[in-house]
Amino acid sequence: MSTNHFIAERVQQDNESQKYGGRVVTRFPPEPNGYLHMGHAKSICLNFGLARDFHGACHLRMDDTNPTTEDPEYVEAIKRDVRWLGFDWADKMFYASDYYQRLFDIALQFIDAGKAYVDDLTEEQISAHRGSVSEAGKPSPFRSRTPAENRALFLEMQSGKLAPGSKVLRAKGDLASPNFKMRDPLMYRIKNDHHYRTGTKWHVYPFYDFAHCFSDAFEGITHSICTLEFENNRELYDWYLRQVPFAGAPKAMPEQIEFARLNVDYTVLSKRKLLELVKDKHVDGWDDPRMPTIAGLRRRGYTADAIRKFCDMIGIAKANSLVDIGKLEFAVREDLEARSQRLLCVVRPLKVVIENWPAGKTEEVDAGGRKLPMSGTLYIERDDFDENPPKDFHRLKPGGEVRLRFAYVIKCERVVKDASGNVSELRCSYNPDPAHKAKGIVHWVSAEHCKDVEVRLYDRLFKDPNPDGGEAHFLTHLNPKSLEIVKAKIEPHGLSAEPSTHWQFERVGYFFADPVLSKPNAPVFNRSVGLKDSWAAKKEEPKRVEVQKTHAKVDKEFAPAPTPALAAKRDAYQKTHGFSLEEAVILTQDETLNAFYESAATKHAPAVGRWIVNELLRALKDRSVTELPFKAPDLTALIDLIETNAISRRAGKDVFEVMLKDGGVPSTIVDKLGLRQVSDSGAIEKIVRDVIAANAAQWAKLKGGETKLLGFFVGQVMKASKGQANPQLAQSLLEKSLK
Ligand code: ATP
Ligand code: MG
Repeated sequence: MSTNHFIAERVQQDNESQKYGGRVVTRFPPEPNGYLHMGHAKSICLNFGLARDFHGACHLRMDDTNPTTEDPEYVEAIKRDVRWLGFDWADKMFYASDYYQRLFDIALQFIDAGKAYVDDLTEEQISAHRGSVSEAGKPSPFRSRTPAENRALFLEMQSGKLAPGSKVLRAKGDLASPNFKMRDPLMYRIKNDHHYRTGTKWHVYPFYDFAHCFSDAFEGITHSICTLEFENNRELYDWYLRQVPFAGAPKAMPEQIEFARLNVDYTVLSKRKLLELVKDKHVDGWDDPRMPTIAGLRRRGYTADAIRKFCDMIGIAKANSLVDIGKLEFAVREDLEARSQRLLCVVRPLKVVIENWPAGKTEEVDAGGRKLPMSGTLYIERDDFDENPPKDFHRLKPGGEVRLRFAYVIKCERVVKDASGNVSELRCSYNPDPAHKAKGIVHWVSAEHCKDVEVRLYDRLFKDPNPDGGEAHFLTHLNPKSLEIVKAKIEPHGLSAEPSTHWQFERVGYFFADPVLSKPNAPVFNRSVGLKDSWAAKKEEPKRVEVQKTHAKVDKEFAPAPTPALAAKRDAYQKTHGFSLEEAVILTQDETLNAFYESAATKHAPAVGRWIVNELLRALKDRSVTELPFKAPDLTALIDLIETNAISRRAGKDVFEVMLKDGGVPSTIVDKLGLRQVSDSGAIEKIVRDVIAANAAQWAKLKGGETKLLGFFVGQVMKASKGQANPQLAQSLLEKSLK
């Protein structure tokens, strides 16, 4: 982790002021109640990275203060994952459970000093007594117990004779504090469960806030780094450490610093939710390659280098955001490119018979150093043949030629179809002149020599970019197609793949021989990542408006408009703005929504309307637009940024997420998230003109109504701009040229 972030600066300042005498000690404190995930990887890289860069130490501490959920299996998994990520805690492995006695003694000191009391109120009563933002908390009737009484009661709590919840130990904080955390925080609760390390010795267990600061202090931690949710806990952290003189107190108390947790789209990063996926068997264990756990990523074929690189890329910030999973995949691709051996493997085979190939002949071709057997019957990828291809299709088509990777050029002479009209086989000829040229190139294997292997194609575990963001339970967003198992045809050499080795199947993607399922001479391959970001391509595809049928209000799709005025608008919208009937119905279904639309539609009315139909209503669920933290003109401003190509549509969605949560001015959010894109429409206009000129015949067809060619032209513009053009802009310029 590079150390040019605000936390490194803080550490640097502390070193300069000699606050800790130049010592830097961080810690990574997981609770062993699940496997580590990508978010933990970020914290690990940060904490161990600081220790490395400042020549300090990073402790690994099991934050195990809850007997109910913790397990030694998790401790082992955590140690394995931290080590695998490339970090070493040397002899600095600690357990909060080792501090139970010391913490208990400090609690008694609090009691004796009159700073803590045993409270008999129930959880609900305690929270009712806490007061509100405008109202101070009320003292518990048990707050005035004497230290002697409290000591006796606390010892009774620890005796094991009391029921959980019947009593708690609370610190006497400040009931009028604007910070709720300070309003008599809970220190201890009763739990009679068996603890995986201390057995049944303890019946009281410290709460996080009390245990964590003292654990840090005992270990001489200097910088206690945690995620933003703990910002309000910092005051309490500092307060606890300064109430009583305790055994083992360091000269300078540790300081808590918060940073933004990692959130990644299309997944969930919470051990509790991951446990749910495992327990309910939505995945095949914690190390299922679709899981965002370190164990899952490892089994998928992601490397520690790639994960560290990713953590470096995303940096350390003070504001939460949702990171595009494409960034991780980018880091993985870069890393695997360098370390993967190459193979030919046909994932979805289509049989090819070369009719002029000498019967029974096998020829060995040189495949970059290894020998590849070629014969008269081959398999190529089904996708590499198209019976009705677009103009620029350089793979195989009827009558067309293509080069077989490392071998000859073949020509498709005939297409054989089965009874239901599906292409079942291609009849081809080959050109024995190795110098014969063809534009495209495809991978292949010899039918007689290739081997069958199991290939596991993984996709996103969730369909929704923010599965945890809406009201629906996150499991409702599971992607039913997240795993596809296929029998692929691989070149003979592929069978020797040892478990846990990396491969690039040429033209297909990066694969990893599964460490668990592979058998000698029968590897099972996991797709780590495709060669290109196919998902991004999908996302950017110009989509026809899809009405959210799930939205309750949309169910009344063709209900008559509630008022004659709205009915009139319904017609007008379709005529003037080109809305579909469905869209017009949605925008006129009630006065409030319609008023919101009208005040937002002062510019780009069709785009504003479609955004309301597709994005806003989905996010609103059954709430009203009046409950939004932003106003109609803010939506106009957002759409304007998208329509003028200041930001991409994808970025617009990110901005919108922020607006939905916190309100705010779109352009400010754009700048904060760094989303502004360079879209020089003049330059793209020129490319569009060139592409049209170079494909005059296709253009004429498109103008004549073959609308599916529009995608082809967008592709050409993208290609000519080397991927730099904004695809929406390219498309709108093309559409303009059509008129
Ligand atoms: P979860 O919600 O997944 O259970 P947690 O915070 O309860 O997470 P811990 O085991 O307590 O899990 O976390 C150990 C350390 O990892 C903590 O310091 C925590 O701040 C950090 N951490 C956990 N999740 C993330 C995340 N998404 N991004 C960055 N750091 C994280
Ligand atoms: Mg936690």
